Amino acid sequence: MHNEVINPRALLDEQELDYSLRPQNLTEFVGQQKVKDNLSIYIEAARQRMEALDHVLLYGPPGLGKTTLAHIIANELEVDIKTTSGPVLDKAGDLAGILTNLKERDVLFIDEVHRLNNVVEEYLYAAMEDFKLDIMIDRGPSARSIQIQLPKFTLIGATTRAGLLTSPMRARFGVVSRLDYYQASELKQIILRSAQIMGVQIDPPGSVEIARRSRGTPRIANRLLRRTRDFAQVKANGIIDKEVADQSLKMLEVDEKGLDEMDKRIIRTIIEKYNGGPVGLNTIAVAVAEESETIEEMYEPFLIQEGFLARTPRGRMATRLAYEHFNYNLKNYGIQEKLF
Ligand code: ADP
Repeated sequence: MHNEVINPRALLDEQELDYSLRPQNLTEFVGQQKVKDNLSIYIEAARQRMEALDHVLLYGPPGLGKTTLAHIIANELEVDIKTTSGPVLDKAGDLAGILTNLKERDVLFIDEVHRLNNVVEEYLYAAMEDFKLDIMIDRGPSARSIQIQLPKFTLIGATTRAGLLTSPMRARFGVVSRLDYYQASELKQIILRSAQIMGVQIDPPGSVEIARRSRGTPRIANRLLRRTRDFAQVKANGIIDKEVADQSLKMLEVDEKGLDEMDKRIIRTIIEKYNGGPVGLNTIAVAVAEESETIEEMYEPFLIQEGFLARTPRGRMATRLAYEHFNYNLKNYGIQEKLF
């Protein structure tokens, strides 16, 4: 979302699109086989016993399907889902309000669960473990605490940063599933499915081209499909083939490996300004004018997984592959002396 100007209306469109492209059940959900296999057993067992499913923690980079999976789980359990997020849920009273409105076996989805504040988190512990909530009523001398019994619900927490979760919080999730970047073949399936829903004509080589350059991420694949559709409509005959996809992605400055403008800026900054690193994350963030959190959550995991960036105790370093990919002459940068 970084390399295009986003106005609120466009964002809304994107959200609506996201919503309509969301698979509704586990069979429609492409990829993440291990996660699906595990979840389907737990869901089936909970259904048979008519009990609430254990609390589930889903973690992994943004856009890989955590929110989608939470909705699918509720759907498969045939229960209702309420959704909120860590930063929004900032008062214990709000949490109490949500929890007391749940029905037996319902799902409460908390996105960015690592960003809950301490007070709310403490309340949540008791709610998750004993399905009880101690709340204070009144103030001063007449203040007293009352205990509310809650329905047995399932908390589904999603986080891009499992490492930031407190250990008591993490320990309260019975099921912990990690989502990984998708294979190009899986993204291809997702793109073909989305194209069908959107009524877009795309041929298999066109879908492979977009899939390859979507950084293993369904949300990006869907976004690139949408942009490519616009391009095909205006510049070609409306059909997305390999060439149309390629031209359109070039225009969007998405390169052969799926790296975009910001990825390039990050790598170039490390190489050109900091001699390849090591350099601290905050320094990089200032140099490329992006928030360090965004870099850490959205860019770095993919750059590391693809081998362009290394995270060392002293900071981030550009790898040999990064120099090669961006056509830097290794010798000019004294690269042989570094440890790769
Ligand atoms: P997250 O919560 O991890 O950031 P989302 O669940 O919002 O990601 O997924 C982003 C979009 O990608 C969704 O709208 C959905 O259309 C699509 N998507 C994600 N995972 C899949 C999948 N496995 N199969 C098909 N579409 C998917």
